[in-house]
Amino acid sequence: MKNIVIIGNGIAGVTAARHIRKKSDHKITIISGETDYFFSRTALMYVFMGHMKFEHTQPYENWFWKKNRIELVKAFVNKVNTESKELVLNNGETLIYDDLIIATGSKPNKFGWPGQDLKAVTGMYSKQDLDTITEYSKDCTRAVIVGGGLIGIEMTEMLVSKNIPVTFLVREASFWNGVLPPGESEMINKHIKEHHIDLRLATSMTEILSDENGRAKAIITDKGETIACNLVGLTAGVSPNVDFLKDSGIELGRGVKVNRKLETNIPNIYAIGDCAEQHEGIGERRPIEAVWYTGRMMGETVARTICGTPSDYQPGHWFNSAKFLDIEYQTYGWIWAKPRENEARFYWEHKDGKKCIHINYDKNTKAFIGINNFGIRMRHNVFDKWLTENRTIEYVLEHLKDANFDPEFYVQHEREIIQKFNTENGTSLVAKKKSWKRIFQTS
Ligand SMILES: Cc1cc2nc3c(=O)[nH]c(=O)nc-3n(C[C@H](O)[C@H](O)[C@H](O)COP(=O)(O)OP(=O)(O)OC[C@H]3O[C@@H](n4cnc5c(N)ncnc54)[C@H](O)[C@@H]3O)c2cc1C
Repeated sequence: MKNIVIIGNGIAGVTAARHIRKKSDHKITIISGETDYFFSRTALMYVFMGHMKFEHTQPYENWFWKKNRIELVKAFVNKVNTESKELVLNNGETLIYDDLIIATGSKPNKFGWPGQDLKAVTGMYSKQDLDTITEYSKDCTRAVIVGGGLIGIEMTEMLVSKNIPVTFLVREASFWNGVLPPGESEMINKHIKEHHIDLRLATSMTEILSDENGRAKAIITDKGETIACNLVGLTAGVSPNVDFLKDSGIELGRGVKVNRKLETNIPNIYAIGDCAEQHEGIGERRPIEAVWYTGRMMGETVARTICGTPSDYQPGHWFNSAKFLDIEYQTYGWIWAKPRENEARFYWEHKDGKKCIHINYDKNTKAFIGINNFGIRMRHNVFDKWLTENRTIEYVLEHLKDANFDPEFYVQHEREIIQKFNTENGTSLVAKKKSWKRIFQTS
């Protein structure tokens, strides 16, 4: 029986613990300084908005851990001594391990802005960040959010839900345009402005000013403008939470460097989730993947390896989903901000400006490469299958009904989508009827 210690009680660490328990009798300890129990980070915004209580973000009852013999230690690890296989905690205690899993997640980026550590200046990552936002939003007359990614728009939505005026600074010329092609990015710009959010594109923050009590009272932009505010959200991306490992001998890049089996350069030490960095990205994936489902997959993979079945992390086709205020977004396969040389695009936007699809395909072979859906919910399993089967754009369009969750609602869009493609490409594609057999058969 091994003594396995996991640092971090997020989705990656907890999934590893659960799967190791399913497969073995190893001693399992999870250490985390943030909260007593695992919770769903992605649901934090709904706690703030009053849709749920914090307790409801905890997927397991509090008795679950004892019943499954998973010991929980509430502390931060300050140091890892890889030679003595010992961890030093911030409460002065030490803990030994046979196998160590590092699953310490991310932290919000801070770029050395003057005033970044003032009161009422916060990221939106941890439970503590949520508490800070809750406290300072009570008397907030204007908030400034710095950084236009997925977390920035979530924090904006949170504050707007409490009728707090928000100025949203986005460094790029259009919202999230490093990821989204121009059509989608512009649609979201418009949508943000329609929500009476003061969106400032191509604008960065240079400094945060303090009031006499050490609380933010204004920010200054790179255009020389001073914006009065008493809450500042720093949402300019996240980075792996690995500073405490600096002198440990564990190889670091931006994150903890791992191979396909999620092993570090030190035997018996693994890294998973947001803090892990592949030496080389898998396929087109980035070396660091800061998304929920990849953390879960890495947790399952490392559990197999530790329990005697060495396994590679194989995440399959890329997908992701998010929400831009009330517009849902899903992406399957690859559709980059700008097409590559071999790629062609097909874009359809509904006249209401709230729904669109954008398909990326190979110019020569017509093979389907990826899709963005906004405001229309599509089935993950269907697109995953089409990517595996190397289907063409024509096949995808003709069978789009198979991918759709909501046929009654969607009928007119499908016809319109195909018509647009036919007009632009001189084709005569016809929408096929939905087939449940096709939807659920495996290839
Ligand atoms: C507001 C928000 C919304 C998001 N929405 C989505 C979404 O819609 N879809 C999606 O796919 N992803 C989303 N994400 C990203 C997703 O939440 C992360 O990818 C995921 O939580 C990473 O899981 P993890 O287990 O690697 O790390 P984490 O969830 O970060 O957990 C790591 C834990 O380790 C603890 N820790 C760190 N260092 C130490 C130490 N030295 N000692 C002890 N404990 C330590 C941390 O305090 C933390 O509790 C969102 C993230 C945020 C912040």
